[in-house]
Amino acid sequence: MKSAVLTDGLTALRIDPAHADTLLAYLQCVLDKNTVMNLTAITDPDEAVKLHLLDCAALIPQYEFAGKSVIDVGCGAGFPGMPLRICEPSIRLTLLDATEKKIAFLKETVDALKLENITCIHARAEEYAAVPPKGMRESFDVAVSRAVARLNILAELCLPLVKMKGMFCAMKSAGSDEEINEAKSAIQKLGGRIAHVEDYTVPGTDVMHRAVWVEKVSAAPGMYPRRFAKIKQLPL
Ligand code: SAH
Repeated sequence: MKSAVLTDGLTALRIDPAHADTLLAYLQCVLDKNTVMNLTAITDPDEAVKLHLLDCAALIPQYEFAGKSVIDVGCGAGFPGMPLRICEPSIRLTLLDATEKKIAFLKETVDALKLENITCIHARAEEYAAVPPKGMRESFDVAVSRAVARLNILAELCLPLVKMKGMFCAMKSAGSDEEINEAKSAIQKLGGRIAHVEDYTVPGTDVMHRAVWVEKVSAAPGMYPRRFAKIKQLPL
């Protein structure tokens, strides 16, 4: 695959367009696998370049990712974690998903692309947030997540995994004001503080998306995260 949309988009984001080949090789793996398992509803390659690769790469200029440990919670086919790691190779990435087949796909893909410092974990986030050695509580500089749950629920899944002074980044639509307001008390209870909300246009489109950056300012109380049934039944 070749894509002028991708190289133009990367350039607009001040990302080295040399990463385009690896991004496209990864996307090709996703689109190939998508014919036999359900990974994405976006099957048009140009649309996938924009709404998957560039949407995720758009986080790069928003935060200093270099050298950071990053967990992608509910990564699915690898979004946003894979584009972030490909665009910033010094990221140490953990891809986490509750669906075993998606994690198997990612392991194969990471091997095929010969990418290092990527760990693929089949687990539920609320279980993976147990204290070490059972889980990886407060172990990551950054937790990122796209299209997994409403922000009040997502905060309970993600913030316990983040180190003190680290960041949780939720990728949302631009129309998420109400969702953010509704999540404020949950974020506070979990030791977070909304640092900033960044609206951005996905390069090559007129689609406006939003990244909600939440700083971890105190430890999440040990009772969180609760079991998923409880989180859903009684969201914070
Ligand atoms: N982030 C990807 C996939 C979104 S689909 C993207 O933006 O394209 C949501 C994914 O979250 C699914 O793959 C599902 O298995 C995973 N998921 C949902 N709840 C989860 C949980 N509690 N722990 C881990 N993964 C979860």
